[in-house]
Amino acid sequence: MGVEDKIPSGIALTTLEAVAGQMLHRSMWPATFGLACCAIEMMASGGPDFDIARYGMERFSATPRQADLMIVAGRCSQKFAPVVRQVWDQMPEPKWCIAMGVCASSGGMFNNYAIVQGVDHIVPVDVYLPGCPPRPQMLFNAILTLHDYVKTSPQGVNREEAARAAERAAMEA
Ligand code: SF4
Repeated sequence: MGVEDKIPSGIALTTLEAVAGQMLHRSMWPATFGLACCAIEMMASGGPDFDIARYGMERFSATPRQADLMIVAGRCSQKFAPVVRQVWDQMPEPKWCIAMGVCASSGGMFNNYAIVQGVDHIVPVDVYLPGCPPRPQMLFNAILTLHDYVKTSPQGVNREEAARAAERAAMEA
């Protein structure tokens, strides 16, 4: 007989990770910054017409140290790449990233030396959002996709460190 069988009916079992995921996905605070035209749509999503607060994002954080979501809204120039990375490094774990628009996702129509060909060269991206620019409704869809991921993914894992460790293990094997 398992532990579950001994517990009276009406009592739900869960894990701390699942509880943490439920809380985290309901109170994400995006970092305040936009890189280009996509940022106009991101700003519109925070206004009364679209009301991003419905998804637990009452405010965009003015400091990266109090943000756990980076929305890279617009193309990222090579010159600005170190700044984006610095903002990411200043955000505490756990944290997530949405690449908003084709330029942030892949460089888009700016296929040239001046533009980073996808911000995943700089920071780990969780959701890629296509469009030029994506409308606020599309951004909300990306946010809901991220919520599903946060609810079900393990907490307390530094994904970059885990990826590096896996890479090292593969090279040593
Ligand atoms: Fe601007 Fe379109 Fe690129 Fe967004 S995807 S930054 S709207 S050119």
